[in-house]
Amino acid sequence: DSDLATLDPEVYREIQHELDRQQNTLEMIASENFAPLAVMEAQGSVLTNKYAEGYPGRRYYGGCEHVDVIESLAIERVKALFGAEHANVQPHSGAQANAAVMFALLNPGDTILGLSLDHGGHLTHGMRLNFSGKLYNVVPYEVEREDARINMDKVAALAREHKPKLIVAGWSAYLRTLDFERFRQIADEVGAYLMVDMSHFAGLVAAGLHPNPVPHAHVTTTTTHKTLGGPRGGVILTSNELAKKIDSAVFPGQQGGPLEHVIAAKAVAFKLAGEEAFADRQRRTLAGAKILAERLSQEDVRQAGISLVSGGTDVHLVLVDLRDSVLDGKRGEDRLHRAGITVNRNSVPFDPRPPMISSGLRIGTPALATRGFDEKAFAEVADIIAGVLLADTEDEAAEAATLEELSERVRALADRYPLYPHLNDSAT
Ligand code: PLP
Repeated sequence: DSDLATLDPEVYREIQHELDRQQNTLEMIASENFAPLAVMEAQGSVLTNKYAEGYPGRRYYGGCEHVDVIESLAIERVKALFGAEHANVQPHSGAQANAAVMFALLNPGDTILGLSLDHGGHLTHGMRLNFSGKLYNVVPYEVEREDARINMDKVAALAREHKPKLIVAGWSAYLRTLDFERFRQIADEVGAYLMVDMSHFAGLVAAGLHPNPVPHAHVTTTTTHKTLGGPRGGVILTSNELAKKIDSAVFPGQQGGPLEHVIAAKAVAFKLAGEEAFADRQRRTLAGAKILAERLSQEDVRQAGISLVSGGTDVHLVLVDLRDSVLDGKRGEDRLHRAGITVNRNSVPFDPRPPMISSGLRIGTPALATRGFDEKAFAEVADIIAGVLLADTEDEAAEAATLEELSERVRALADRYPLYPHLNDSAT
């Protein structure tokens, strides 16, 4: 009955395989989540056909009366969710949101201060090969060796020395909350703009479980598909004062037609993010990360030279430190994959191994919390992960036997928390 199955069986088959993979493995990539069916329905709608360059009420195309309503809903909902004066919901991705902000506030050659990639920052915060590293003069700041926390006095000293025009706060792999108020004081002192990229923790902020950067930052950016659990995309939040600059940097500065089908899906996600079920999910996300941190700090794990970056977590992920272990990030990732758990290897601060191997594993709980995991289920998955990390490194057969045994426990958890059951007998 599926048009796709009939017209393009190759693509159809792979989508079915991907559904099967998502249903039967445990997704613990910290930046991933499972979008609700309502979000996917909006994203898979006729809105994909519509050109709507411009903004609601000011379009360069006819026939925008319905997408205007939808985009305005998305804007109003996300403003209310985070307490922002102005929102642009058009960036196609988080990277494009960040590019638009830099395009709006900076000139090529200007100095930006951002958390270094190997210390948990994102590519768009000034990595050498990224547009941000190529266009701007990047001064990276780092975390401290002892506790993997950002030392704000050092950020202030760097800011005084280099007089950046933009300070970027935010991260892809950091375990603690940031002092947004202090970041803003430093920015004000040196005459810089403060941009906070809350992509990773936006869902926690929406649920009131993490400090909200919006009141402190000149501009806040976020993706909509991580802890927020919406469609893939980006959003920029700012003040009325900077609104025009930001909007014209997105369109016509960066993008042509907005993706109104994705914007509709964002609107749905923002509505859901205001509900109690969402807050409950974020609480389980945080509880799960704490449970994981506790299990991976126990004696048996420490004996194997495995520890946690920053000694624990205040957010939705842990970063396993394998610098003193014979296991490296690549092998750890492969092993977890064999047991049916998907994570990504990640450099840890001061990592002696190259990025393609690395000495870290970034393990996040948002997707499993969306699947319904409670504390008991997270305790079970934490114990499975400990077992995977502690499997024999010398004897391949023993390693394989342990992983096979643990993968049975993974399968039992996956069965207990079904994902997208309605999709099994429908088309896609
Ligand atoms: N900002 C942060 C902090 C991120 O972690 C990411 C994605 O990993 C992005 C921006 C980029 O988002 P996207 O992949 O949608 O471009």
